[in-house]
Amino acid sequence: MEQCGLCRQREGVREAGVYIDGEKKQVPVCAHCIHDAMRKNHYGIGFGAGLQLCWFVVAGKGLFSVAGGFAALIALYGLARLLLVLAGHLALRLGKGGPVPGWVWKYAMAQAVTEDALRDALAERICNVKVQTPREYERTHPAK
Ligand SMILES: [Zn+2]
Repeated sequence: MEQCGLCRQREGVREAGVYIDGEKKQVPVCAHCIHDAMRKNHYGIGFGAGLQLCWFVVAGKGLFSVAGGFAALIALYGLARLLLVLAGHLALRLGKGGPVPGWVWKYAMAQAVTEDALRDALAERICNVKVQTPREYERTHPAK
């Protein structure tokens, strides 16, 4: 694969998507930059941890009420996300600059945080051009 689009120093191991002026580009990103993006990302952890507050609703309303049951589902979803992100962090730390496993890339937010980092880096490099992550692009251009 080509050189990393973020640091321009190492060989890319994964391709991150970015929209430049509405045009999709696939940019290679090296393992090092993916690790970096993951390390700086606390959103995934905060999000999952925040959903744990739902347990208070469960405690207050009871698990078998509508609100309690619903809150329990949300809290469990948050817990699964939290564990996945933590496992992803751990896998990358143990891998030490090695390849990024597919499940970390896809499900542990690695792709999402890398695309965010890529958007920021490119937006800084090229002025007067709208740079968006694929998720931002999809939000502003709903599928017809
Ligand atoms: Zn890099």
